[in-house]
Amino acid sequence: MLRRITATSLLFLLSGLVAILPGLPSVPGAPLVVSAQSGASTEYTAIETRAVVDVERGTLLPGAIILVRGNRIEAVGADIDVPAGARRIDLSDKYVLPGLMDAHTHITLTPGYAEHNPILYKSVPYRTVEAVVAVRETLLAGFTTIRDLDSEGADWADVAVRDAVNDALVPGPRMQVATLAISITGGYMNNDGLAPQIDVPQFGALADSQAEIVRTLRQQVKYGADWIKLYATGTTKHIDLENMAPLPQFTDEEIRLVVDEAARFGKPVAAHAYGGHAAHAAVDAGVRSIEHGMMLSNETLDLMAERGTFWVPTINVYFPSDPDAKLTERQIAITESHRRVFGEALRRGVRIAYGTDAGALPHGDNAIDFARMVEYGMTPAQALRSATLSVAELMELDHDLGTIEAGKLADIIAVDANPLNDIGALWNVGFVMKDGVVYR
Ligand SMILES: [Zn+2]
Repeated sequence: MLRRITATSLLFLLSGLVAILPGLPSVPGAPLVVSAQSGASTEYTAIETRAVVDVERGTLLPGAIILVRGNRIEAVGADIDVPAGARRIDLSDKYVLPGLMDAHTHITLTPGYAEHNPILYKSVPYRTVEAVVAVRETLLAGFTTIRDLDSEGADWADVAVRDAVNDALVPGPRMQVATLAISITGGYMNNDGLAPQIDVPQFGALADSQAEIVRTLRQQVKYGADWIKLYATGTTKHIDLENMAPLPQFTDEEIRLVVDEAARFGKPVAAHAYGGHAAHAAVDAGVRSIEHGMMLSNETLDLMAERGTFWVPTINVYFPSDPDAKLTERQIAITESHRRVFGEALRRGVRIAYGTDAGALPHGDNAIDFARMVEYGMTPAQALRSATLSVAELMELDHDLGTIEAGKLADIIAVDANPLNDIGALWNVGFVMKDGVVYR
């Protein structure tokens, strides 16, 4: 029953090719229906491409066809057997690559949260609805997998949205979530600036003793956390610019307790840590990733390289949202340090996983960090790997995701230009398949 595609038969088939998926809109603003086809389908789909991008080697496979069966890739190559009757998708003028991944998002945040505190002005149900919109924007931008790091006071809304996506109630990327991040009284996520008599819910889960750390961590696990997020240092407001030293929050013993207690439940830890002693202690304690890290010392970077700790730099979020705005002295100090640390991390072989802090940035703008990473010294191929295979490794999903190869899940996107030459091509994703289902 297998039919080998030859140039002649390909032309014949292309001539008969019409709309790929009737009923699925291709306009981003249009209502989006989750396809009824489940992953259990054994139907074949053959995707014709101009080239498939090999993100592991940084090379192209020109003219490759991707054969998908149900939700998995069965074969990839220019000369593969396509079963008769296979559904055909014509991307023969496009560069095709694995679904992108963002390892640092906040689906329950929207830009402007600092001026219009959602804790004070939005209900958790409303923020959950916003998150449903956010994940749809994220998926349509070509990001088929995300790690959402802290619901920012929206309780377990991230768990609800993750599960709703998995149940095919709403379209969105596959997600691992951190629920409420653990912080301290007076630290990051503790609504500063309010009078002492004002008692409101917090962005994070505050814990000020070992017993409180254990209790709040178990509560996050109970209600669905895939990751435990820890605020190991304070926010940008807490940086002593003279010494470029961020404020530590937890003691070394407390950081170790978080990692050990999370490990008992099989949960990895992501540490928000700009640098200094707390970042080093977090790496030493065994966190799986350091977030932001724009002041990491060479000593800490060396320890990360040795331990295989991932770094998720989130570069662009420290620049003003208006690209024409002049940087403040604080922004200059922070972004210049970030640039320097990025170069050191590259030289030292630290595993860098792509993450943006979307939520602080508009959802759907998840491609925003690619240009900065290239500007800071990565090749486009390295930047692409960081947003595919490296995040898959961080999330321990690399057996199923991160590359286009036989046996992996069919998370496939397409762009018009070769992203190995022009990383900006990733801003315009024209085709999105997740788990074998076409969303765009
Ligand atoms: Zn963040």
